[in-house]
Amino acid sequence: MNSPVTLSRHGDIALLRIDNPPVNALSPGVVAGLVAAIDAFEADASYKALLLHGEGRTFVAGGDISSFDLPDFTTQPFNGTLARIEALGRPVVAALHGTVLGGGLELALACHWRVAHPKTQLGLPEVKLGILPGSLGTQRLPRVVGAELALDLIASGRSIGAAEARELGLVDELSDAAPLQAGIAFTEALLARGAGPRRISERMVATESLAPDFFERALADAARRKPFHPSARNIVRAVQASLLPFAEGEAAEARLFEELRVSPESKAMRHLFFAERLASKIPGLPRDTTLRPVRSVGVLGAGTMGGGIAMNFANAGIPTVLVETSQAALDRGLGIIRANYEASAAKGRLTTEQVEARMALLRGSLDDAALADCDLVIEAVFENMDLKKQVCARLGAVCKPGAIIATNTSTLDVDVLAEATGRPADVVGMHFFSPANVMRLLEVVRGAKTAPEVLATVMQLARTIGKVAVVSGVCYGFIGNRMAEVYMREAEFLMMEGASPAQIDGAVEALGMAMGPCRMLDMAGIDVGAKTVIEYGKAGGLPPDDSYRAVVRKMFELGRFGQKTGAGYYRYDGRKPVDDPETARIAAELAAQHGIARRDDIPPQEIVERLLYPLINEGARILEEGIAYRPGDIDMVWVAGYGFPDHRGGPVHMADAIGLPQIAGRLAHYANTRGNPHGYWSISPLLASLAAQGKRLSDWQAA
Ligand code: NAD
Repeated sequence: MNSPVTLSRHGDIALLRIDNPPVNALSPGVVAGLVAAIDAFEADASYKALLLHGEGRTFVAGGDISSFDLPDFTTQPFNGTLARIEALGRPVVAALHGTVLGGGLELALACHWRVAHPKTQLGLPEVKLGILPGSLGTQRLPRVVGAELALDLIASGRSIGAAEARELGLVDELSDAAPLQAGIAFTEALLARGAGPRRISERMVATESLAPDFFERALADAARRKPFHPSARNIVRAVQASLLPFAEGEAAEARLFEELRVSPESKAMRHLFFAERLASKIPGLPRDTTLRPVRSVGVLGAGTMGGGIAMNFANAGIPTVLVETSQAALDRGLGIIRANYEASAAKGRLTTEQVEARMALLRGSLDDAALADCDLVIEAVFENMDLKKQVCARLGAVCKPGAIIATNTSTLDVDVLAEATGRPADVVGMHFFSPANVMRLLEVVRGAKTAPEVLATVMQLARTIGKVAVVSGVCYGFIGNRMAEVYMREAEFLMMEGASPAQIDGAVEALGMAMGPCRMLDMAGIDVGAKTVIEYGKAGGLPPDDSYRAVVRKMFELGRFGQKTGAGYYRYDGRKPVDDPETARIAAELAAQHGIARRDDIPPQEIVERLLYPLINEGARILEEGIAYRPGDIDMVWVAGYGFPDHRGGPVHMADAIGLPQIAGRLAHYANTRGNPHGYWSISPLLASLAAQGKRLSDWQAA
């Protein structure tokens, strides 16, 4: 087999080309190729310099993440190769372009000189996988840019542009030429002026401007801001070790890296990395499915969701028209969008020109004829079946042939809405999450008759607007809200049994959930939640149990809509939630009404089990019904849409970490102790069978 690394000659210069499409990742083959190329270079004294460059769209863009899970994984072959490159007695130059990330940047740092195309991005994003740069990035980067900035870059994982890298001395020269030509010109100039090797490992980290307690404070800060991520602490320690002699720092980095590589947190985050990539693949959909062009978008309804949805398209440069029923609603919607953009500008994230350019892409109208030319129209009107059916019928008539009609419904039957348009093949669910311009998740709901190219187009469009798209089949609440329903059910039963919202939220927030269920619904709106439950009741979906979601219905009746009215499950001191005696009174009254026994000692472990185990159980049902294509999709939905902690890898990954027999056992325990007249604690057949066979839910694949 041809090696992805080749060595050729250009005069006195040895050209080392890395060609491992698509992004020249550091596969074992690339590392072996580097070794062979260095051997050949060393053996030929007629070469005066070595020039490394990447073929295709980028220099090396990163390491081989899949190999991290191998039991005998070691950074040694690559790190040893880097040491050999740096030790070479003739100058070594890296010609950079594209995305020089992770192992790619570590390779560049082992070279003596670096020339880059002005559009190059450089960074060490390993923290996003719960690890640290384990190939001397934590040792070489501080020696170039200082410990303070190196820590900032490694701890955030953010990339910097070539111009900034040039100012920092990370890059020696910028060149507009093609990478190979730029590298040759730079190397020839080096040779002409007689420059020799220049090794970063021989430098010391500048410490003059470093506060004496810098690392102590950085460690405290990491523990406070990222209590669930051991990578945050280890990164500080590794950068601190760069102040030691290089070999000692190298040993410290290796130890701190290995600790993270085998940690459950990093395994969970690596699982999500792969799950995210897999989620965009749709089984049975040919890769060459023709996409429908989407050059203009229409959004019906400029409320909470419609406005945020429209911003996504304006951000991506796609002209968008917003249609409302009244001028007041339209003005309010567009006003909120402008205020959002201006707030970003005030924080320095957008320029005034960008704000105006985006606003110029947004147009308002009171006439739905304005949607006639749009390639995609998304309805985001109130969550009401009769209204949505009317709206869909109208869209079916107004939208041009070939236009995609999408619904942002949270829970309603997409197939019913699709039929209402009269052209169900054009219809798909696009379920955005609030705030729609911020949240990364997009559930794409595939109807029974959704055309393959409609699905493929929407998945591609999701990428254009920076969303993680996960496909769901049609069912109440799709993947996310269907699972959230059982979670909210138990939150409310726990409340009626005597737990306060703060106790309920506290139990899951202690695991790393961004927000417990009570704070979550108070923010989304008790009214929104209650109306969904009421609509579901009308459609015959609720269990015959008057105590089911009794709290949310009562709160709605009392006008306690959550944060927006100053009280919901909590009372609000400004935006700060505080436990409200009124909630306790309402919960006690409902408990008495429904014959629910009260306790004042519900332990946090019970709260966690009662919130999360039914949710996991519902996830298993979603898999066996074929609503989700794969277990990782469920994890992506919860991490990208519901603030589920990434270091636990999502509910399915977490279930496997706990062990399915344990989960099945506790579900059975609650069925016994609480009674199971409505099937709340019935174990999904899939979960039961995997638990009995000692298998994992994550490994399950649809037949
Ligand atoms: P909202 O009440 O804030 O906005 C709805 C808007 O639709 C209003 O401005 C209303 O004037 C407008 N409208 C009503 N009938 C219309 C018509 N015939 N033509 C044009 N405009 C019309 O509601 P929202 O929270 O934005 O929810 C909209 C949809 O998004 C619902 O289906 C909801 O379930 C879904 N959703 C909401 C959330 C959330 O957290 N709020 C999250 C995901 C999905």
